[in-house]
Amino acid sequence: MFLFGFDAARPCWRLLCALLVFMLPVSVGMWELHSNYLRTLDNEAELAATKAVRLMEGMLHHAEGTNISVEPLIKQPCKASFLALRKRVTLTPFVRSTSLINHRGVYCNSLLGDVHWEDDVESYSDSFLRLLPGNQIRAHHPVLALRTASQDGAALSTIDSEYLKVMLALSAPVSGEAQLRVGNAWLDEQGRLVEGYPRLPSLGVRKVQSEHYPLSVYAGFELPSVWGALWQVRHLTIMMLLVFSLCIALLVWWLLGRPRSMEGELKRALRAKEFVPYLQPLIASRSGKVMGAEVLMRWQHPSSGLIRPDLFIPQAEECGMIVPMTSVLMQAVALRLSSCQDRLPAGFHISFNISAVHCLDLSLLDECRSFLDHFSPGRVVLVLELTERELLVANAHTLALFKRLDEMGVKLAIDDFGTGHSSLTYLQQFHVDYLKIDRSFIGRIGTESLSEHIVDNVIDLGTRLGLTLVAEGVETEVQADYLWSKGVHYLQGYLFGCPQPLRQFCQGLTAGEADGQLVASHATSA
Ligand code: C2E
Ligand code: CA
Ligand code: CA
Repeated sequence: MFLFGFDAARPCWRLLCALLVFMLPVSVGMWELHSNYLRTLDNEAELAATKAVRLMEGMLHHAEGTNISVEPLIKQPCKASFLALRKRVTLTPFVRSTSLINHRGVYCNSLLGDVHWEDDVESYSDSFLRLLPGNQIRAHHPVLALRTASQDGAALSTIDSEYLKVMLALSAPVSGEAQLRVGNAWLDEQGRLVEGYPRLPSLGVRKVQSEHYPLSVYAGFELPSVWGALWQVRHLTIMMLLVFSLCIALLVWWLLGRPRSMEGELKRALRAKEFVPYLQPLIASRSGKVMGAEVLMRWQHPSSGLIRPDLFIPQAEECGMIVPMTSVLMQAVALRLSSCQDRLPAGFHISFNISAVHCLDLSLLDECRSFLDHFSPGRVVLVLELTERELLVANAHTLALFKRLDEMGVKLAIDDFGTGHSSLTYLQQFHVDYLKIDRSFIGRIGTESLSEHIVDNVIDLGTRLGLTLVAEGVETEVQADYLWSKGVHYLQGYLFGCPQPLRQFCQGLTAGEADGQLVASHATSA
């Protein structure tokens, strides 16, 4: 699904894959149909030409039989042989007339009797077959003349082109044509005789040569478009091919868009760099200046758009993916924010939300070190927020981890304070620096409810323990004034700024901000 940056679940890739899957069988199928059709045309042309040659041979066989049977009449005067000659011609199919030839030329014809015609033996193919545009009997009507030489002279029989024409038409393939060639002369299905080079069909032309006579037949097809002809004969197959390919493409489209296991989807999204940091400003309640920001993760999903963290963080925590996701987020923030660090006030607080599972290995140490290495000393204060909802077991490993983090100058904040189960010992064991009062309590300020007293108690507790207090979810001036009056050090909420993309946050840092003049505008940005 995801390979070398190629994510088939993205709509554009999904569409491309489906298109490819559609195009592949269509092109292979069409290519196969096309070449198969051309082969069929070739075979049909070959068959048609062979059939025409056989029919021609059949007719010429009759003419040759006539010539042989009248051989004994040569040398006899025409008067004596004329009736026998005529009878023979009448009884033989296809033969129009037969003539006898002696050393002076053609001297006797079955139709006209005594004649004196020239015998041009050279003009015959192989000295015995000739296609003529006409003869002395019918001047402009082509005939096929077969000359059979003997000891005393020769016999000459002619076959009318009407027969040839019909035979060619009968054998020609459907939507194709056939032509007879004898020597340099060509006869087509319409009975037209051409000498030299005729216009041959454009497609699948096959030539079949007679084994007994010097003649050949050319058959082929004259189609305006092969694809058009293919559609006419194979439209059902083409339709089925298109429907089949479409079904496969739709299946691929559906398969690629199918929701995968959450873990697989998170892994894919991590490789595709879809988890992006949003930053929400943290305000010093006394000065109103921006003194830090909390990094909040967003999932820029290719098809679902921007996804809130509470919809995927619990699952990411469950399968352990939250650890690499947070590392990648820290790297992204370090890279981008360090490029504009000269515009950050000194000691700018950057806090990340860390899940309890992340505290189980020591990779967190390296990640924090690497983060701090991107900034000049003292430029930023790295804060890790641990939610009170997740119980962090205080064992030798976690205690050692937080001790080393403390030595590196990394601060620890207890998030959503007041909603979970952290005890006072817990607060002391882990050397907590900040308490973030949960926004559910802040929202009740001014309502005279129990929550307002809880806020007071939390503030009281934090102050006694010497912790820095942060109030989250501050939405109104009333809340801000109340918290300020109670000595809460830092405020965070929509009143001062919504979480915004890191790039936008960096752009918002103006030159004046570098001098610590970054002041909360009570803006409600994106
Ligand atoms: P959180 O750490 O308590 O973050 C504060 C949440 O309150 C954020 O929601 C923020 O957008 C929202 N918020 C800020 N100001 C106001 C306000 O004035 N009014 C109201 N109603 N809400 C406000 P978001 O970004 O949806 O995050 C929800 C939670 O998802 C976070 O709660 C945090 O527990 C978790 N989360 C976010 N990013 C990460 C992360 O990178 N790693 C881990 N492990 N958890 C994260
Ligand atoms: Ca938080
Ligand atoms: Ca919180």
